Amino acid sequence: MRIRPLVKSFQPYKVLEGDYRIWLDKNENPFDLSPEIKEEIFEELKRVPFNRYPHITADPLRERIAEFLGIDKENIIVGNGSDELISLILKLFDGDHIVISSPTFGMYGFFAKFEGINLIDVPLDENFRLQNVEEYAENARALFICSPNNPTGNTQDREKIISVLETGAPVVLDEAYVEFAKGSNVDLISEYDNLIVLRTFSKAFGLAGVRVGYAVGSEEIIDHLHRIKPPFTLDSISMKIAGLMLDHYDLVKRNIDYIIKERERIYRKFKDYAYPSEANFILMKLNAYEFLLEKGIVVRKLGGRLTGHIRVTVGKREENDELIGALKEFM
Ligand code: PMP
Repeated sequence: MRIRPLVKSFQPYKVLEGDYRIWLDKNENPFDLSPEIKEEIFEELKRVPFNRYPHITADPLRERIAEFLGIDKENIIVGNGSDELISLILKLFDGDHIVISSPTFGMYGFFAKFEGINLIDVPLDENFRLQNVEEYAENARALFICSPNNPTGNTQDREKIISVLETGAPVVLDEAYVEFAKGSNVDLISEYDNLIVLRTFSKAFGLAGVRVGYAVGSEEIIDHLHRIKPPFTLDSISMKIAGLMLDHYDLVKRNIDYIIKERERIYRKFKDYAYPSEANFILMKLNAYEFLLEKGIVVRKLGGRLTGHIRVTVGKREENDELIGALKEFM
């Protein structure tokens, strides 16, 4: 078979199978929806016509998100997870490269490689702050800023984000974890029409299995993203569920507050090894991946510049207690 060499250079997904008890590896929300909310969802789904395609631009959900953020639906596009939108954004702009700042989320580089776009990496400094990315703005398809950054957990200063926006190049600000942070920069949309902010329902809203993400940007950008988006990638069911979670933001907020409290509790116990985080995970300078796995606890093992580090997702209190106990034993 004539499979393209580029495709062959990608690795197959590996699924960790085993009898592990505690999963703190994917930055998921530890709380599933309550049985009451699930019941409400199932009731609503009875009215969804399964024989019909979903709304082609997902307007019912765009309207709900717009209302939630206090902006217009013309400034929002929704997708099958924010991953789909990253891939779409890379197809939108002219230019010969994208700029990322490692260590960061791997999918920017993954999609760029697949699209044959050059990747310029301007690594974060020793405090994980953005460096001179502005110098690479000319002819860039996009500059990616992840804040809070996965896997380091820190946010970037607003002044620095503005400085990057001032270059006029398209800037993708990935705010997948922003609900766990002190603040957002999504309001900059009104001042900078070269800004796209990525958000997701997978983390704070606890819908990783449902696959809904959205991007906020100027009407012009959103309109053009819609023109190239494959139709119907977001199904009617996911759309409904995400909308319902916005109606229950009080519950979402309660879980966010719980996770932030737990994050700070874990951080205080490992201050000498952990990095401060504004996300739902903590980066730790501890080579404890295998040790934890032996105890049935799965975390993320990091490589490259972060070899010897782990990223641990904040879980439920009792899961975090087990993690803390195991790490104390490790040290
Ligand atoms: N951006 C960042 C920084 C992430 O960590 C993730 C998920 N790991 C995503 C985007 C993608 O999220 P989703 O596709 O589930 O919306």
